Amino acid sequence: MAPAPQGPRHFAVIGAGIAGIACARTLVQAGHSLTVFDKAVTPGGRMASRDSPFGGFDQGAQYFTVRDARFARALETVPGLCKPWSANAIRVLDAHGRVTEAPLPARESHWVAAPGMDQLPARWAQPLAGACQLEMKTRVMRIEPDALDPGQWQLRTESGDARHVYGGFDAVLLALPAPQAANLLNTSALAPKGLRKLAGVEMAPCWTLMLAFPNAMQPGLVTLGPQWNAARSTHHRVAWLARESSKPGREQIERWTLQASAAWSREHENDSAERVTAKLLKAFAEVAGIRATPAWSDARLWRQAQTLKPLGRPYVWDAARGIGLCGDWCIGRRVEDAFVSGLELALAVHG
Ligand code: FAD
Repeated sequence: MAPAPQGPRHFAVIGAGIAGIACARTLVQAGHSLTVFDKAVTPGGRMASRDSPFGGFDQGAQYFTVRDARFARALETVPGLCKPWSANAIRVLDAHGRVTEAPLPARESHWVAAPGMDQLPARWAQPLAGACQLEMKTRVMRIEPDALDPGQWQLRTESGDARHVYGGFDAVLLALPAPQAANLLNTSALAPKGLRKLAGVEMAPCWTLMLAFPNAMQPGLVTLGPQWNAARSTHHRVAWLARESSKPGREQIERWTLQASAAWSREHENDSAERVTAKLLKAFAEVAGIRATPAWSDARLWRQAQTLKPLGRPYVWDAARGIGLCGDWCIGRRVEDAFVSGLELALAVHG
């Protein structure tokens, strides 16, 4: 692949999670043109929310922190969208659900987008969608040299039964979880500089259970739940519990999200959602003390939920070939890590 030309260039960004969106909006601001591709219906990736008859749930990231000044400045572009959540009072529970530590000291605010976490990536993706630079429901199957100009790249994609080829890209930027990026590069017989290091990145799955208890809203019927709204737990099945209805800008109907531990999720990766729901409901009763039957529940498996071992640098950029990689896994496991990685890849690519 020829070295990237100077001046405005045309990029493909694969993945419209927070890393891909941060990367894309920075490149557009710098005067480049691009198309973002994502296999999902809506942007946001693991910053995802879903509806239920009883209100919404954040089924991926629960909240985010704001430590990087560039992330803080980007949040100023969506005033009022994100609000601090009282998860400052996050408890730590032992295996039986007993509070073992007083609330963690409120060193920093925990922020949520309202009415759901998916609203932040959705808002930042709006200008891309408005400019027809966002191709949702489009899975990239292969990256290959452009048939018309081998100095550029083309992508083979699938949208349902339809197959397309998009060409004319000076560079391709993968904003995918590390194992998915490695798979796509391997399928495409590409080994950009730095690919071998990806093998050292470790990501763990996470089963997430969402529960709604509308009866708890009828005074005197049921006394539900603990005094806290969010807790980390050392129960072997449960890592995290949050009362969704306690987050700002949400429906008041009592709703809980439970995240299973990485070890338990891995052990049960091939179980059905029904089986997992039954097991996690038992654990939920033990830890939260809520034994009522939920009126609504759903379980979702994230196969690459959280980074256990990051890459240790903010992005991978092979300038000679025009292939870049970004994502939370480059530096950590948080929304903010994904943003910083996407931003820094864009700055490196812009030069
Ligand atoms: P992703 O969000 O994974 O985006 C990748 C995108 O690529 C996806 O949209 C996917 O659809 C798309 N894609 C994949 N393959 C293809 C393909 N072949 N073609 C086209 N598109 C493709 N972080 C926090 O800061 N606080 C938390 O409380 C928190 N809790 C979490 C809880 C759970 C259950 C999970 C799963 C994550 C949590 N995180 C949390 C982590 C946070 O969600 C991630 O760090 C961040 O969202 C990652 O963004 P990303 O852009 O790097 O990747």
